[in-house]
Amino acid sequence: MSYETVIGLEIHVQLATRSKAFCGDDASFGGAPNTHTSAVSLAHPGTLPRLNKKAIEYAVRLGLALGCDIARHSTFDRKNYFYADLPKGFQTTQQNNPICLGGQLTVDGGRRTARLHHIHLEEDAGKSLHDQTPHESLIDLNRAGVPLLEIVTEPDLRSAEEVAAFMSEIRRLVRWLGISDGNMEEGSLRCDVNVSVRKSGEKKLGQRCEIKNVNSMRFARRAIEFEVKRQIGILESGGKVEQETRGFDAATGTTYSLREKEEAHDYRYFPEPDLPPVVISAALLEKIQSEMPPLPQVMEQTFQTKYGLSTHDAALFTQEREIADYFLQLTTHNNPQPVIPPRQIANLIINKLLPWSASTGTPLNACPVPPTAWLEFLNLIENQQVSASTAYQRLFPALLEEPEHSPTLLATEMNLLQNADADFLEKIADEVLARFPEKAAEYRKGKKGLIGFFMGELMKASKGKAEPKTATRLLEEKLK
Ligand code: ADP
Ligand code: MG
Repeated sequence: MSYETVIGLEIHVQLATRSKAFCGDDASFGGAPNTHTSAVSLAHPGTLPRLNKKAIEYAVRLGLALGCDIARHSTFDRKNYFYADLPKGFQTTQQNNPICLGGQLTVDGGRRTARLHHIHLEEDAGKSLHDQTPHESLIDLNRAGVPLLEIVTEPDLRSAEEVAAFMSEIRRLVRWLGISDGNMEEGSLRCDVNVSVRKSGEKKLGQRCEIKNVNSMRFARRAIEFEVKRQIGILESGGKVEQETRGFDAATGTTYSLREKEEAHDYRYFPEPDLPPVVISAALLEKIQSEMPPLPQVMEQTFQTKYGLSTHDAALFTQEREIADYFLQLTTHNNPQPVIPPRQIANLIINKLLPWSASTGTPLNACPVPPTAWLEFLNLIENQQVSASTAYQRLFPALLEEPEHSPTLLATEMNLLQNADADFLEKIADEVLARFPEKAAEYRKGKKGLIGFFMGELMKASKGKAEPKTATRLLEEKLK
């Protein structure tokens, strides 16, 4: 019997606002424990929340990027539970009227579209540390009140691979939109994975289990694989999958029951009385809309169709907006003669500029060599004035050393220019052919592959200065 895996995700995105969702405390990651905590974060009596406008803007940005309906009127609710890292005794969230409704995201090269149920805004809890001292738990409330978006998908994903693709796309998108650093290690992006299985062809959904807080893509994959096997095992032996919340143990690669349905929390949701409804004016919505960048998926397509980049390079260039923008900047300046194939621009960025940027910690757009100089550099290669290997090995580092110099001037000074001058080449060609009369005879008898040998000798004799196309043509003529 074959089974189909069905997965829905609840993804938490920590927003990169400077202050927290409902007060001015520092929202940045880390810091000495309990230093980003005013009376509001600590929930002292009498304190009141005040909504962070940036968090709303970020939610709208993500909603627009994902094709959601933006609720012009949304509200907050209290989700009540008791825990030491939740000083208020409730989480402020959006249960009844979330800020974004519907929407979808297509992944896997267009093969899978997952619909979104909604996106809501809420706050994070603090952090409990249970493994620092033997007999106590420690509480760090720096994270308490940091704004989160929760993206809830419909159960539309069908495999661990699709989940990985979906999460990578969300990560790229939130970084692209500048609303989160998408850092899974630091918990800026986390997901709860709802998994069920059903017999192939079956329309009705199977009973699901929710796996909590899977904090890396690798763990998500292993957790799903284990959970699918476990559920199929239960069904195959005639049992019934029970709805429950499970945890993932990375050490054993297994999931284990945290709580069953009967033990599910009753959160006693009710409308938050201390926050007025969020009303998004037409003007604000328009402003955010007008500031939206072109989306990475669209750009990835354009890079392939308009600029002829490979799927790999198009994906690489749209991982970060900085790289995409830099590539576009070079292509828009691209009007020297001949016009340089965008592929060559891409190669310069991939093979040289990205490694340089990574090793020096300098963003591409802060590169001291201006885009026009890089195009001139590529033009020297394109025109065969400097060989590609000489340009990359010698001219490239020299340009970074002296970024105010023109590449042509520098190449001339360094004596790197190739020579296509007929007199110069003819003299060397004659000399090479005279040195190898037997080889020339063999060539004439039909061993045409020897042209490579002659070119090699000619290059050596010219100290790498011979312009190869002209030189080859000349040798061929002389060998006729
Ligand atoms: P609840 O109201 O209990 O929170 P929801 O219907 O809101 O449940 O679903 C929560 C998450 O579980 C969503 O991401 C949804 O896609 C997913 N989900 C719901 N039913 C299933 C199922 N049968 N199999 C897999 N995922 C499911
Ligand atoms: Mg729900």
